Amino acid sequence: MADSMKPVSAPPATGRFVFDLCPACSFFAGGEEGKRHCTECGAALIHECPRCAVPIDNPYAKHCGRCGGAYREAKEQGRRGA
Ligand SMILES: [Zn+2]
Ligand SMILES: [Zn+2]
Repeated sequence: MADSMKPVSAPPATGRFVFDLCPACSFFAGGEEGKRHCTECGAALIHECPRCAVPIDNPYAKHCGRCGGAYREAKEQGRRGA
């Protein structure tokens, strides 16, 4: 019986590649540890959907592929009213 066929090339669940996206200028970084702010404008980076917390795995995406929420929407709130 082939009971020990373990997929060696399978990536670990924790090694999933996630991008850091800037909600202000859409600049993105490669999910480096310790990087919290956009190196272009200084805004706080996001690495997951503000609505449903799905990791951003596409650096060119502007909207969440799951809930449709805009990644840049979070930034807009601070400029309204007042
Ligand atoms: Zn930025
Ligand atoms: Zn979402």
